[in-house]
Amino acid sequence: MCDYLLGKGATVVGLDNFLTGRRRNIAHLAGNSAFTFVEQDVASPVDVGPVDYVLHMASPASPKDYLEYPIETLDVGSNGTRQMLEVTQRYGAKYLITSTSECYGDPLEHPQVETYWGNVNPVGPRSCYDESKRFAEALTMAYHRSRGVKTSIARIFNTYGPRMKLNDGRVVPAFMDQALRGEPITIFGDGSQTRSFCYVSDLIEGLVRLLLSDEVYPTNIGNPNEMTISQFADAIVALTGSKGGVVYHPLPEDDPKQRQPDIAKARRLLGWEPVVGLDQGLQSTVEYFRSL
Ligand code: UDP
Repeated sequence: MCDYLLGKGATVVGLDNFLTGRRRNIAHLAGNSAFTFVEQDVASPVDVGPVDYVLHMASPASPKDYLEYPIETLDVGSNGTRQMLEVTQRYGAKYLITSTSECYGDPLEHPQVETYWGNVNPVGPRSCYDESKRFAEALTMAYHRSRGVKTSIARIFNTYGPRMKLNDGRVVPAFMDQALRGEPITIFGDGSQTRSFCYVSDLIEGLVRLLLSDEVYPTNIGNPNEMTISQFADAIVALTGSKGGVVYHPLPEDDPKQRQPDIAKARRLLGWEPVVGLDQGLQSTVEYFRSL
């Protein structure tokens, strides 16, 4: 996102406490006079001076990470969201929060349309993430309704691409890491659960269009190309030529059985849809992991 905005001529201030992010991902911006970096938790009071736009994208996002940091995850969705909304209000800026398809939980409606209220376990292991984001959406709507703050809410579906952590636990880097090492690919459950994978550049384009729009209610930003995790493992084997095979591990508690965005709203309102196919996106991603 920083690269995209800087490329458009914007002046950017980035904030991160590197709880799960990585310093090396912004190393190339060090000499860029349009980029300032502040190392801090956005759940603490923030003042970076006047800004026109606030993108609140902070949070652990991998199940492995948020299970390790459940309190920090709840904190960034609650106090962090509050801080970002305060900054937005103070400077009369426009705000966008990256929420999640996890708001739909283990969905009983398929594909997921924004008007679906979801099927979330409020006390299960994933609740630290799901409920944090649901609270963040509610807080965002409260600032919009009661204080007139200009806000947008994106619900991101599984996204992948270069600069992910190889060991972040999510299925794309996990399968690629295993395949590149010739180790067995670890399928959780029987592999019949589905996900729909969106390449990072498509996501960024959708987020910026939403930021520049007047749409207040949640908007799905994702790629509707749904597949089972077994099919995804096959795609990784075909891409890497791995001979390591697959092994089956238990399905994590509350792992959603199906997930596919309905993006009719984004198409209609933003004129947006993904343009990077899975083969092309996985190719760029595997090249990045090979280069590490
Ligand atoms: N998964 C898997 N093996 C792994 C990591 C994940 O089979 O090594 C499965 C996981 O159980 C889920 C899907 O892949 O059904 C996507 O998991 P991920 O952690 O990437 O994100 P989620 O969509 O669950 O938030």
